[in-house]
Formats: sequence, C-alpha cells, structure tokens
Amino acid sequence: MKLQVQPKLIIHGGAGSSLHGKGGVEVVRRSLHTIVEEVYSLLLCGATASEAAVQGCLMLEDDPRFNSGTGSVLQSDGQIRMSASLMDGALGRFSGVINVSRVKNPIELAQFLQNSPDRVLSDLGSAELARELQIPIYNALTELRLQEWIQERQDNFKSTMANVVAEPELVETSNARRGTIGVVVLDTYGNLAAGTSTGGKGFERIGRVSDSAMPAGNYATSNAAVSCTGIGEDIIDECLAARIVVRVTDGMPLKDAMQRSFAEAHQNKRDLGAIALDTNGAIAWGKTSEILLAAYHNGEKIGDTLEWSGNELIGYS
Ligand code: ASP
Repeated sequence: MKLQVQPKLIIHGGAGSSLHGKGGVEVVRRSLHTIVEEVYSLLLCGATASEAAVQGCLMLEDDPRFNSGTGSVLQSDGQIRMSASLMDGALGRFSGVINVSRVKNPIELAQFLQNSPDRVLSDLGSAELARELQIPIYNALTELRLQEWIQERQDNFKSTMANVVAEPELVETSNARRGTIGVVVLDTYGNLAAGTSTGGKGFERIGRVSDSAMPAGNYATSNAAVSCTGIGEDIIDECLAARIVVRVTDGMPLKDAMQRSFAEAHQNKRDLGAIALDTNGAIAWGKTSEILLAAYHNGEKIGDTLEWSGNELIGYS
C-alpha cells in the first residue's frame, strides 16, 4: 500500500514521581515499545487515526501495570471507577464515559459513542450502555492495586494519588504517584486522533470526575491532538489539551504551543504531563512532574521519555 502521509504515533502510561528502580524502567519500556510497534504496524497497513488510537488504548488498558482498565487504582471506598474518551480530529468529535465500573475496556464504550447522538455518559448511563451492548462483566482489580489500597487505608489515605505504575516494591513505600494512559495518532490519510483512559488519581472521593473524559485532558482537531496525564484538577484548571490544540489550530507551531502552555502550567505550580502531535507530523511531549512515561514512533525509529529528567519542560522529535 502506498502511504499518503508518514504516520506518527506517541503513547503514554502516566506521569508522576520517578520509577522505583532501573528494573521498573526496563519493564515499562518493554511494555510501551511493544505497543508502539504493534499500533504503528496497523497504521502502516492503513488503520485510521481513531482505530489506531482505540487499539493502542485497548492494549494499554489490558496491561495491568498501567492505571486504566485492568490494574486501575481503587477509589477511597475500595471500588474501581474508570473514565475514557476518544476525539477524532478530522470529524472534530469527542465522546467518552465517566466513572464506569465492571467493564474490561472503557475505551470501547467511548468508541461506540462516537456515532451516538449522546456522546458523553456518566456512571449510570455507561453501565446501561455496557448492558445494552452485552459487554461481559469484568473485574479490573489486581492484587497489587488491592495491596496499595490496603496500605493507603492504614495510612489514612494521605497520598494525593496512587502509584504511576503497579510495582510490588511501591506497595511498601506508598509514595504519591499517578497513572493513566493515552494514545495520539497521525494516520496515513493525514488525520489525527487522541484517546485517553484512566482509573482516576486513586483514593478519590466517590463521584470525583477525571479530566481524562473531558476536552481538558484529551482533545484533537485536524491541526493537532493531545492526551494529558497528571493531577486531573491541575489539568482541568489549565484546560491543557484544548489549550495546546487551540494554539496550534490558531497558527502557533506545536513546539511553541507546548513551550508556552507548559511554562504557564509550571508557573501555576501544576503537576501534569502531555503528549502531542500536529498535522505536519511533529511529535512533542511535556511535563511539570518528575517523569513522563511516553514512547513514540517518528516514522524512522521508536524513542521514549523514560529517562528524561532534566529541567526542560518539553521535548520533541
Ligand atoms: N489525570 C488522571 C486523573 O486525575 C490521573 C492521571 O493522569 O494519572 O484522573
């Protein structure tokens, strides 16, 4: 098949404080690179941006290491409630589910809602939709996330967020970290899409709504696409994904839009990260947090941000 445009892809598995050890980095790298490789080969075979974004999200949701789908963190009452969204840049269409329980892949519900007149559903509506679609009931709980919650309960829930990835060592240290997954794609037809899925920030109050199913955390037009991670409240206050995308859509180069938006977020003492693509194939990432777990394919090779820990707020390829 002849490519019309060189596809590009960037994915993330969350942002937060540093991974526990080198072992952790290598395991996460393997997971992220494998998913980048698989999704990129779909793009080379002609998958659309939305299809590829959904497939990438599905794979990340199924990896118990990341805080979405299987391996989602528990909320303060010990329950899992997940949120996910998909935005098709070419159609300019956002869809998502908020605080859905007992499904394996929340991104599938967001994908279904792309073609529905009602495109963002909360907990009750999402459960009803899953029932209508006859999606089997699924328990996304893993032993590590349960142990993490038990530890937090003993500590009276003083962490502001759960661990960025589920690692056995972290259960004992119980440092505040975070997760969430995201996929941003430029397909061979020149179209963009962004997908984001999360178990939330962990240990939150019942009914708390994540940025991941809002345009603040996941947004795309035909000019740019962005997926965010970090403290949802900070992402919402910056309206980060939409802010970056609108700047690019108004004519600012992606690199400048990222630089400016992250300088503002840093100034405002936010704790967050984002991955981004523009329609020319520029890839960028940014963080105000210590680390960002992202990996990308720039058409030539796979790269990642796992050992990026300098003072710069953004990076690009
Ligand atoms: N942004 C997500 C939330 O606050 C969590 C994360 O990205 O780790 O729900």
